[in-house]
Amino acid sequence: MKAWENNIRKVVPYTPGEQPKLKNIIKLNTNENPYPPSPLVLEELSKMDYEKFRLYPDPEVKELNVAIANSLGVSEDMVFTGVGSDDVISMIFMTFFNSDKPILFPEISYSFYSVWANLHRVPYETVRLDDDFNIVVSDFNKTNGGIIFPNPNAPTSKYLSLDLVEEIIKNNSESIVVVDEAYIDFGGESAIGLISKYDNLLVVQTFSKSRSMAGLRIGYAIGNNRLIAALNDVKFSFNSYTMNMAAIKLGTAAIADKKYFEECCSKIIKTRQRTMAELEKLGFSFPDSKSNFIFATHKNKKAEEIFVKLKEKNIFVRYFKQPRIDNYLRITIGTDSQMDALITALKEIL
Ligand code: PMP
Repeated sequence: MKAWENNIRKVVPYTPGEQPKLKNIIKLNTNENPYPPSPLVLEELSKMDYEKFRLYPDPEVKELNVAIANSLGVSEDMVFTGVGSDDVISMIFMTFFNSDKPILFPEISYSFYSVWANLHRVPYETVRLDDDFNIVVSDFNKTNGGIIFPNPNAPTSKYLSLDLVEEIIKNNSESIVVVDEAYIDFGGESAIGLISKYDNLLVVQTFSKSRSMAGLRIGYAIGNNRLIAALNDVKFSFNSYTMNMAAIKLGTAAIADKKYFEECCSKIIKTRQRTMAELEKLGFSFPDSKSNFIFATHKNKKAEEIFVKLKEKNIFVRYFKQPRIDNYLRITIGTDSQMDALITALKEIL
């Protein structure tokens, strides 16, 4: 063994959901939006001046940050943008989770959190969820070097009401609390309004789900200007040009189309409610979802078997072979016709 081999940073990477190369599949496995981005994005794309690509993009991402700030009613210095919320959260780990005390996150949660903790060498502890997958606020009342949780949680789809989110933030005023709101636009209430009250709060959101732009990679954190300045210091010590020119322009165009965004979210919510009713009739149960996916278990058919059989029919959903959730399927909400095809396939399988 060579000496340098001891110096390799050893990590177990995150496994993203499958992106099958097959054509004609129904893809309900990575919580993407089934609808295209706003037509304003296409318009902006067609106007794009390719000659400008020889220049570096704006390292301060000003145009997009201003658009996000205006749409949320916060000031520009409260916005930090990154290459999807994955990039933003990784920067948050690097910037704020630097104590010897463990950071806390739910035992069933976004599985990237433990990967970042290991990558950035941050100690962590997971916090148990109750039998119905609820976050128990008082369980976060212990020594910690920071807290992160998704709301709604993933993959359980469970939403924690804003008063309980606030309790976690209030009870942990000496730590940075990060609320990962990747799915908040599908029925939950954002914690952004609490930022003026709590200086330890960061809220992370993304263009990947509710704005149908997973492929463009845009995510952002909202927090008070001191936290955002600290994040920028780390970003500018790591890579000044995280956001490319196309993402800045097209993200700004997407923000301009509030009406399209709202219509898209309400269509998905409507399809979700209808799908939940259909699944229930077939013998599935699931937590009440406030996200763009349903976390379902069947009363007598094993989730893994359903997962395999759906795949044989070219319908992809997500299955996690993990303690407590290995009999559940995470099903992304697609179009109405995709969900009809799913229900038909499930009837055949069951
Ligand atoms: N947080 C949660 C809870 C997620 O499920 C995801 C999607 N995998 C992300 C963050 C990251 O999303 P993105 O990087 O596309 O913004």
